[in-house]
Amino acid sequence: MNADHPNDVRPILVFATHNPNKVRELQEMLGDQYQIQSLTDIGCHEEIVENALTLKGNAQIKARHVVEHYGLDCFADDTGLEVDALDGAPGVFSARYAGIHGDAEGNMTKLLAELERVGATAQEARAAQFRTVICLIQDGEEHLIEGQCKGFIEPARSGAEGFGYDPVFKPEGHSCTFAEMAPEEKNAISHRGRAVRAMVEQLLT
Ligand code: IMP
Repeated sequence: MNADHPNDVRPILVFATHNPNKVRELQEMLGDQYQIQSLTDIGCHEEIVENALTLKGNAQIKARHVVEHYGLDCFADDTGLEVDALDGAPGVFSARYAGIHGDAEGNMTKLLAELERVGATAQEARAAQFRTVICLIQDGEEHLIEGQCKGFIEPARSGAEGFGYDPVFKPEGHSCTFAEMAPEEKNAISHRGRAVRAMVEQLLT
């Protein structure tokens, strides 16, 4: 039940994010069966420290925090870029690979330098994948859902769309980077799009 809308009987599902765009997008995918609320909506303003060494661990920390402190069903996601030639780096450290959280330019510069340092010049040597892990806790049961997108790290940036590592990531079977794709085109094949669609399918069945 929603205190602001007492007639709304849809079950509440918290998306462990403060980003209203992410929440709106998911609400549209779920139609009228659930009421998606953000961390801001439920008054969760404390920092949730994501200090696990795996994507799964960080997703669990966020989802479990909401369930334990707010008593609401919740899901949380965590994403990383895993580069084969770098033994899976930057992985869980993708957001702060170059040292400052969210420094996309610095992160890409470091990634390209690291690939050069290890001599990964041929395309096959630059294989990578984005991986999203979602932890969904519903009625006390925890579910882990994954989405992947395989591809290659380009030697230089191309494109202005998207965010993060998009200008240097070319998905397998495509001739342009994520940053050269329209948002819908990226969403149809992306790690996050796949994970979210799998979760929505589970929630609606
Ligand atoms: P988050 O778990 O969604 O916050 O993602 C962690 C970090 O991974 C982001 O800060 C980005 O650096 C990177 N990342 C996640 N998803 C994408 C994507 O779709 N494109 C490019 N970079 C991404």
